Amino acid sequence: MKFLNKTITLISVLMLTACSENGGQKEEYTKGSEITQEAKNIEAKTEKVVVYSSRKEHLIKPFFEEFTANTGIEIDYITDKAGPLVTRLKAEGARTPADIFMTVDAGNLWLAKREGVLQSVTSTTLENNIPNNFQDPDNQWFGLTVRARTMVYDTNKVNPKELSSYEDLADAKWKGRLCLRTSKKVYNQSLVAMLIARHGEAKAESIVKGWVDNLATAPFSNDTKVVKAIEAGQCEVGIVNSYYFGRLEKENPDISVALYLPENSGQGVHVNISGAGITKHAKNPKAALQLIEWLSSKSAQQMYAGLNLEYPANTSVESIEQVQAWGELNADTMNLSKAGELQPAAVQLMDRVGYK
Ligand code: FE
Repeated sequence: MKFLNKTITLISVLMLTACSENGGQKEEYTKGSEITQEAKNIEAKTEKVVVYSSRKEHLIKPFFEEFTANTGIEIDYITDKAGPLVTRLKAEGARTPADIFMTVDAGNLWLAKREGVLQSVTSTTLENNIPNNFQDPDNQWFGLTVRARTMVYDTNKVNPKELSSYEDLADAKWKGRLCLRTSKKVYNQSLVAMLIARHGEAKAESIVKGWVDNLATAPFSNDTKVVKAIEAGQCEVGIVNSYYFGRLEKENPDISVALYLPENSGQGVHVNISGAGITKHAKNPKAALQLIEWLSSKSAQQMYAGLNLEYPANTSVESIEQVQAWGELNADTMNLSKAGELQPAAVQLMDRVGYK
């Protein structure tokens, strides 16, 4: 508002100057156009980007503040779940104030693309900073952080040598020892979608059925509960995103649960992303791209690594020490848009085998 008042004052002053210097109608009109252009230029200097984000406020705010401090570009944002945000973007259509859609999981980004609320962008910066498998093939979205869906195990009961792959958790030796999060969460839908991509539907189904047969208890509502159930002795092994384990490990370095990164003998570690795309009807696509490009830069990627214990998407940036201590990440290199494409098949598959 402060800025707006200033602009209006400036326009008035310029108008007055124009009028006093030139009496003629035509002259006045010409000056008027110039003034409008000038106002536009001033406005361009205090641009604003509007972000619809399903990432939590405390994870995005520090980035936005840093970006504004560096560029003067202001950022307005709202946060909600990914599904409702996509619905909202669709309903608002060309009237949407949003320039950027930001969310976790390639499945959600894929959905936004399918719903037609994003646009393709050309950016050498993003092409250089973000590996191909973490980008939409049509450049409608780009990964900004990488999250690994890893195994966690009870250090008192499980020898890490017993562990190998997600597929192996279907083996009868894990009967009554496995804990999982609900199949309703997109993270597990994407994991199963990638199993389908890798093995075909029939084999993927037998793997997931094996998991269900091995469950020690009903699936939990979130990853933190899976780690805590292992710590409490309810089960011995589980599948969670590494940063959930990382938070608990940070709180209690002596936790009797450890993280295991599945080997490359299977499909490597299932990774997913958080990412962003420019909305189809963005009012300020240039500044929006500037923000996404900055988020892929070294300094922003270092912030990401420290703030949420995620892996940087930009491979020239290292993870923080705590994350490095978990071992080398051999990530599955399949393009993550597969996770979106096969998501409906994954949901049906999990339903068929009784994975709640
Ligand atoms: Fe999460």
